[in-house]
Amino acid sequence: MALLGGIEAGGTKFVCAVGTGPDDLQAEIRIPTTMPQETISQVIDFFQQQIKQTGDLAAIGIGAFGPVDVCENSPKFGWFLNTPKPGWQQVDFVGTIKRELNIPVGFDTDVNAAALGEYQWGNGIGLGSLIYLTVGTGIGGGGVMGGRPIHGLLHPEMGHILIPHDLSVDPFVGACPFHQDCLEGLASGFAMEKRWQQKAASLPADHPAWALEAHYLATGLINFILTLSPERIILGGGVMEQPQLFPLIRSQVRERLNAYLEVPQIMADIDNYIVPPKLGSKAGIMGAFVLAQQTIKQNFGV
Ligand code: ADP
Ligand code: ZN
Repeated sequence: MALLGGIEAGGTKFVCAVGTGPDDLQAEIRIPTTMPQETISQVIDFFQQQIKQTGDLAAIGIGAFGPVDVCENSPKFGWFLNTPKPGWQQVDFVGTIKRELNIPVGFDTDVNAAALGEYQWGNGIGLGSLIYLTVGTGIGGGGVMGGRPIHGLLHPEMGHILIPHDLSVDPFVGACPFHQDCLEGLASGFAMEKRWQQKAASLPADHPAWALEAHYLATGLINFILTLSPERIILGGGVMEQPQLFPLIRSQVRERLNAYLEVPQIMADIDNYIVPPKLGSKAGIMGAFVLAQQTIKQNFGV
C-alpha cells in the first residue's frame, strides 16, 4: 500500500503524519502555528526527512482551517484566503508544498477532511452522507454527500450560520468578529469562555451553561438536518469532551423537530445518529490521508 503524508493545518497547531491508515501511523509531529513562513518551512523539513528515511511518499493530503480556496480550477487553489488568523491571509500553501516537495497534494478544509476520515474509517462506514461539526475554539462544519466532500461556491462555513438569540435569556452579545451572535459567536469554546468568564472545561456539569450550549448546538444541527439531510452527524472538538452535552443535544434535536421527520434514525435511534468521532482526535489527520489517496487515484488512476 502506498505510503501517505497528511497535514492537519489548524489555527493553533499543524499535525503532520506519515502512514497508510488508522492502524498504521508511522510518524507524527506537531508544529505550533506561528507565522506562515516559519510554520510551513518546519512542515517541509519534516516531510523531506520522511521522504529520505522511507524512500518514497506517494502523495500528501491537507485539511486546513479556513476560509481556503478548494476549487481545483481556481488560480488560488490551495491558498488561505481572508482568514482572521494574523499573517495567514492570501498564503499559497498547496503551491509551496508541491514546489518544495515535488509531490501530488490533495486539499480540503479541516472539517471536510475529518468528515472523510470518519466516512472511510470511522462512524461513517457504510453511509453515503454525514456531517462533521467541530466545537472547539471556533465552530466548523464539513461533510460528505454522495461519497464526496461538500463543495460549492467555496466550502461550507457551518459555524457561521445565524440562529435565533433571545437576549432576555442570554444577554451575551456574541464573540464572532464578523457576525457577533452566529453559531460560533454564541457556542464556541471561545464564546463560552467570554460569556462565563472562565474556561469551558472548568464549568461544572450541572452549570446552566451546558443547557444553553446544547440549545444553540441543537438549533444549528436542526438547521443542518433540514437543509442537508445527512445520514449521521459527528460532533468533535474540545467542548464536546463534556459527556453531558450529547444527551442534552440529542433530546433537544428530537423534541424540537417535533416528529416532522419520520425517520427511525432520529425518532428511535438518535443515540446512533448524533455521535462522537470514532477516530477521536485522529479524524482530521486520517482525513488528510484519505485526501492523499484520492489524489493518487486522480493522478495515476489506481
Ligand atoms: P481547536 O479548536 O483550537 O483546534 P479543540 O478542539 O481542542 O482545539 O478546542 C479547544 C476549545 O475547547 C477551547 O475553547 C477549550 O476551552 C475547550 N475545551 C477543551 N477541553 C474541554 C473540556 N474538557 N470541556 C469543555 N471544553 C473544553
Ligand atoms: Zn460568525
